[in-house]
Amino acid sequence: MVLEGKVTEAKYTYQRLTFIKPTEHHYEKKGEVPYIKYGCPVCDALGNKHQLTFGEKNCGLCNVNLTWDELWKGEKENE
Ligand SMILES: [Zn+2]
Repeated sequence: MVLEGKVTEAKYTYQRLTFIKPTEHHYEKKGEVPYIKYGCPVCDALGNKHQLTFGEKNCGLCNVNLTWDELWKGEKENE
């Protein structure tokens, strides 16, 4: 499994923050309007699958920081 996300810029390593990109689970059929549920990659990897609310800042169960930047962009492209 590959984790995607971002790390903030900072002079010292301990000042950098990591953000993880949520996993997209698609439920729509081909040609249908996208129906997406989001999961936490960390919890998924540990077998604790659950659903995230779009835009949540942290995973409620493992508390990782989440980044929705790329997913927001994706939403705009679909408009
Ligand atoms: Zn989690």
